[in-house]
Amino acid sequence: MGTDELTEFLMANSVLPENFSKEEIAAFAEQLNVEEYPAGETLMREGTPACSLMLLISGEVRRMLGDVELDLLHAGEFIGKSMLTDEGSHYANVVATEPVVVGHLTIEHYGLLVEAAPVASRKFKQYFSDIHIQEMHEKQGLSFVDQRSYLGLVAHNEMKESLMLFARTHAEKLKRFHLVATGTTGIKLYQEVGLMISKKLASGPLGGDQAIGKMISENNIKGLIFFRDPLSPHPHHADIEALGRLCDVYQVPMATNPGGAAALLNFLLIDHPEEPAIPNRVLEKYRNAQKKVVAQPAQ
Ligand code: PGA
Repeated sequence: MGTDELTEFLMANSVLPENFSKEEIAAFAEQLNVEEYPAGETLMREGTPACSLMLLISGEVRRMLGDVELDLLHAGEFIGKSMLTDEGSHYANVVATEPVVVGHLTIEHYGLLVEAAPVASRKFKQYFSDIHIQEMHEKQGLSFVDQRSYLGLVAHNEMKESLMLFARTHAEKLKRFHLVATGTTGIKLYQEVGLMISKKLASGPLGGDQAIGKMISENNIKGLIFFRDPLSPHPHHADIEALGRLCDVYQVPMATNPGGAAALLNFLLIDHPEEPAIPNRVLEKYRNAQKKVVAQPAQ
């Protein structure tokens, strides 16, 4: 593939024409080396010096941060944009998922571009650096791990009045927690009691109960106050049951009525160094069994 073909490829398949003239793109294409890599090849390694920018001409690559897939990239897209930023190293691993053909711009060839087309080269540097910064913001959002431990608050409609009264009575204590609540419960706690909710989820029947379950499984819930209405049927019965079950799995203290909730608050606000934690034997047993399942090779 010569410069003309590469230029045509970039004109037709990349977003460069939105920002660059055909002459500028041709100057860029002139510095690309066409290379082929087999499936499974690591094209860029996290933490290594960023001295390659690659245009994907055909095939697919996977960008990984540790063992988490960030995205899949295809023909016309660029990898290794950090070469044109001040960062100095690649932030992700890039692995070919199938045989790929790339247009490789090395740092030396970028130097040649600077000599041949100084204005265009600066423009390319700015362009790739801007995209890189934008991508980093998106990725940081993806890889953000919430370390906080929340107190969960949920009340079914018939029990909302009861939870509001409870929250008003115990507002000072509740304010000492990061609070998470299902949609409607959260709105009412804020509007009627003035409690700030650190994390607001969907309404319970729309997935909010399951979202709290997810937080329990990620160790982000230290206690749950869930005023369940015991005298009406609920469309999301399965979710309610699942939430209680997860509290049992992870030994998260759960209170389902005002008396239990008052005791729960007091318990959570006081350290109990003299009381040894009760080991979670069922969870340990299950995790050990799963390790064996993982270790067992497929037949
Ligand atoms: P809500 O959900 O706070 O949105 O009313 C509570 C529930 O029904 O689980």
